[in-house]
Order: sequence, then structure tokens, then C-alpha cells
Amino acid sequence: MTDSRLQELRSQVDVINLQILELLNQRATVVSDIGKVQAQLGTSFYDPQREAFMLEQLERNNKGPFSNETIKALFREIFRASMALEETEARAKILVQRKSPDQSTVIILPDSLTKIGGGGFSIIAGSCAVESYDQMDTVAAALSERGIKMMRGMAYKPRTSPYDFQGMGEEGLKIARQVANKYGMFVVSEIMDKSQIEMFSDYVDIFWVGARNMQNSFLLNALGKIRQPVILKNGLAATMEEFLYAAEYIVSSGNPNVILISRGIRTYEKWTRNTLDIGGIAVLKLESHLPLIVDISHSAGRRDIAIPMGRAAKASGADGLMVEVHPNPPVAMSDSKQQLSIPQFNALMDALDM
Ligand code: PEP
Ligand code: MN
Repeated sequence: MTDSRLQELRSQVDVINLQILELLNQRATVVSDIGKVQAQLGTSFYDPQREAFMLEQLERNNKGPFSNETIKALFREIFRASMALEETEARAKILVQRKSPDQSTVIILPDSLTKIGGGGFSIIAGSCAVESYDQMDTVAAALSERGIKMMRGMAYKPRTSPYDFQGMGEEGLKIARQVANKYGMFVVSEIMDKSQIEMFSDYVDIFWVGARNMQNSFLLNALGKIRQPVILKNGLAATMEEFLYAAEYIVSSGNPNVILISRGIRTYEKWTRNTLDIGGIAVLKLESHLPLIVDISHSAGRRDIAIPMGRAAKASGADGLMVEVHPNPPVAMSDSKQQLSIPQFNALMDALDM
């Protein structure tokens, strides 16, 4: 008798469970429609006043036996799941978001041979900054011997202190172009402001947005109007979501040729300049179809771990690495602690079988 009563009650619970399941999914569908309307209106998914109102209404109507606290805790969980659903649906719509496992943006440079993304492992290398013709020529000769095609030609340096070397400006771009032409290489160079785009186009093959400008939406939108590839570095304390939304500014303005660079973020750690998030690289590759390069120089801030950093970059699933190389690092005008000498660069390339 008791046994059949138990069976009967359990069947009632099973039926109720299925009703709750049906209702939860009905609710999720309505919430998802709300998300679509909010996206059209440009309003935020999270509305604390609306949440407070719903909880109050539930409290007023709660006849027990669950306490108000229990009901509120359960519904807060439902609200959280709904928000996550709205966010996932909103993200799925953004252009830089991966839509299928095999989707990958491949950047093809004007020689039709040099590529970033799509399976290879690309190297971008060169000094932190252009300092002189001879310095650039020495580095380019060494890089070109290793088959490197993409050379840093950094002429504008957004330094922490205004009293530090700020770069050679247009003169530096001229040197970078001359040297790159001599060795058949491409110039990548950091642009500071949208007013420089026309002038940069005379010298540069790949535009570069540094960490300090990651959220300069005017610059990002303007770079969306050009055709040349744009490298975008993550901000000093940017989340991955913020990083991808910054890339979205460029792509949604019309330029699909964006390359991401992970350069680490600022943490409490002092023994490396920044903290490189290897897990984050894997997540960015899952979330976005854009190519991703690992900056082993600025993330480490030191040259003595270049080989393990390079190996980690290669193993992480990234599409390449960026490394600073200088003919005489101790006297470099910027980032002297992290730039590799030419023999150290060659050792890195050997270690990576490049
Ligand atoms: C750089 O790569 O030259 C540079 C300035 O790095 P970041 O923008 O990552 O600080
Ligand atoms: Mn540097």
C-alpha cells in the first residue's frame, strides 16, 4: 500500500518536473525575444529594477511551503540563466564571433604568398622602434635570412613617460619602408590617430593598433574603412569580450582583415612585465575566427624566457608570434630588457623549427 502510494507521488513529481521544464523553456523563448527587442533598442540586457520588481511580485504571491528566501534564490538562478542565454545569442551575432569550427579568417599579403591564419605559424619580428637606417638594415638582413616577411617598423612609440623616446615619426616610417623594400619584406607599424591614415598608407603594409588604443573607437572605425590588414593588441586590462568588441568596431566598419595580438595583461606579478593568459588564447581561438598572434616580448618583458614562451605560443593553437629583435639590445632606445639579440633570435627560430 505504502509502496504504491510512493510510486503515485513520484509519478506526480515526474509530471510536475516536465511541466516546469516546459515552462522554463517557454520563459527562455520569451526572454530571448525580449533580448532581440533590447538589441534593436540598444538597451542593456541587465535591468536591476525589472529584476527587483519580479522578485517582489513573487514574494507577494508566494503561498508556501517554500519560504520567500528560497523562492527568491531559485528565481535568481533562473534570471542568471536567462541573462547568459541573451548574452550568448547577442554574441553569436557579432561578426568576429566564430560561427563554425572550421571558419577562419586568413590574411593574405600583396605577394599572395605571405599569410596569417588558416593553419600556418607566422612570425612578425623586428626592433621595438626604428632608431636608425643601420639598425633596421642589420635586423632586416638577419630576419630575411630566416625567411621572415613581416617586419616591425615602429615609428610612433606611446611610452609611459612623456620624457622617454617617442619614436622617429615619419622619418622612421621612411627608413622602415626603404629597408623592407631592400629585403622584400612587409612593414607593420603602430598608428596613433586616425589623422595619420593617409600618411601611413605611403609606408605601411599592415596597420597596428597598440594596447593603449584598443578602445579608441574613432580610430578603430576609421581603420574599418581601409583595405589593408589591421593588427589589434589587447588593452592593458581588457577582458577577452572587450578585446573582441574592439575588433568588431573595425570589422563592422567594413574591414574584415583583422589580426589579434595577445600581449598579456597587467596583474600583480612583478617577475614578468605582463601576464600572458595561455588559456585565454585557446578561448579566443574558440570564440573568434580571426587570426591570433602571441606577443612573447611585451607579455614577458624579458628575453631569457623567449624560447619557452615561443614554444607555449606555438603549442597554444595561436597563428604565430611577435618578437622584438635588436642588433644590440642593451643600448636599445626602448624595451632594452626584452629585445632579443640576433643570435638569440636565431636560437628561438631553431627551437621552434622555423
Ligand atoms: C609594441 O608592440 O610596440 C607596443 C608598444 O606594445 P603594447 O601596445 O602591447 O604595449
Ligand atoms: Mn616594445
